[in-house]
Amino acid sequence: RDAELLESAEAERKRRAAAVIEEVESSLATPTALLRSIADAMVTEMERGLRGDIHAQLKMLISYVDNLPTGDEHGLFYALDLGGTNFRVLRVQLGGREKRVVKQQYEEVSIPPHLMVGTSMELFDFIAAALAKFVDTEGEDFHLPEGRQRELGFTFSFPVNQTSISSGTLIKWTKGFSINGTVGEDVVSELSRAMERQGLDMKVTALVNDTVGTLAGGRYMDNDVVAAVILGTGTNAAYVEHANAIPKWTGLLPKSGNMVINTEWGSFKSDKLPLSEYDKAMDFESLNPGEQIYEKMISGMYLGEIVRRILLKLAHDASLFGDVVPPKLEQPFILRTPDMSAMHHDSSHDLKTLGAKLKDIVGVADTTLEVRYITRHICDLVAERGARLAAAGIYSILKKIGRDKVPSSGGKMPRTVVALDGGLYEHYKKFSSCVESTLTDLLGEEASSSVAAKLANDGSGIGAALLAASHSQYGESH
Ligand code: BGC
Ligand code: MG
Repeated sequence: RDAELLESAEAERKRRAAAVIEEVESSLATPTALLRSIADAMVTEMERGLRGDIHAQLKMLISYVDNLPTGDEHGLFYALDLGGTNFRVLRVQLGGREKRVVKQQYEEVSIPPHLMVGTSMELFDFIAAALAKFVDTEGEDFHLPEGRQRELGFTFSFPVNQTSISSGTLIKWTKGFSINGTVGEDVVSELSRAMERQGLDMKVTALVNDTVGTLAGGRYMDNDVVAAVILGTGTNAAYVEHANAIPKWTGLLPKSGNMVINTEWGSFKSDKLPLSEYDKAMDFESLNPGEQIYEKMISGMYLGEIVRRILLKLAHDASLFGDVVPPKLEQPFILRTPDMSAMHHDSSHDLKTLGAKLKDIVGVADTTLEVRYITRHICDLVAERGARLAAAGIYSILKKIGRDKVPSSGGKMPRTVVALDGGLYEHYKKFSSCVESTLTDLLGEEASSSVAAKLANDGSGIGAALLAASHSQYGESH
């Protein structure tokens, strides 16, 4: 009798788990036809953004970068990269066409979490102090011509309304930053004032988004780079647009005929996006509800949290982790994307690593093999949806610039390189290979043979330094 009861309770539990999983599978599904219609919707939003429609989902910010690095850049330049959980300072001695990067040094500092939600002044003082300390360690093998001021490229990985190549006001914070008093302010003045308070004599000659920095750094390495994508804590893309395809641009037509556009695609929203109850609840409880919806489905800050929410549902509805719901599983953001990645990549027969992670994070030892398989499957579903949506975004940019198919006029499609950076893309292998295979699928065999995705590891720092060089107050430094 008892054994029978136990068995039917167990069967009931399995039935409930299967029902939740089935519901999750269908709400996260991204069939290729759906990805194509998402890409089309993104192209439409890009066009609206370029027209300056205030309701456009994609802001399509003008970067004031109308020339990408050529290789001739010359001299000592600094860069500062602020955007995710870390910030980096970097110096590089550029040697022109022949010698290229003669020497570079960098340092990475993690941002104390309280500064991400503190005051503007505290954040900028902290950054400027770290920069000043770094400048103090500049050695003999870096050369600044007599009488010159040091110059800096500032990579600031948030949406900014640029007012020139070296100034711009913050539109909003993203990625867990929430600091009063910075929105609407010129971030270069904020940084410059903080540098002055540190007694640091340095001029910001370029303010760039990380996508724009990555595009510049990518182009320096490879002439066929036309777009850059960040898949990290947050997500975004920049690309080279024809200046005459930007109706809202009222300035002079640049000599190059081109202008780099920061799409800010993270804020894309559409009823075509496969948004589940888990996404909606996460968004509702976030620091920026209703905003960065596409980013919240794709990027590293959120993937682990989505998995946690699904596991919690399974714990509640199907006693996945036993009769009591593990209290740790109730804690937002306890499951980080790097842990999710580690669980997802466990291919051992008994999923030992995954089991150890569950013990570590959720606090349940002795999970059954079945529970481990379910957990891995959830990681797979969430990562695959994110990666496929990211691929749809890349495909939409290629469509926008006409590099999605062989030209109708005949001939071969030019080699087209997309520079990619960000911890998610770099470290989460199943994610990055899914991005690539989905992109190949969307492009089709012929076009995809001309398109390459290339990891531009920390290209944004060097890119910002290169742009600081080409916009030096001392003129083009040759
Ligand atoms: C920001 C973008 C940035 C991206 C990647 C997003 O949250 O809005 O400006 O490029 O993260 O760092
Ligand atoms: Mg970065």
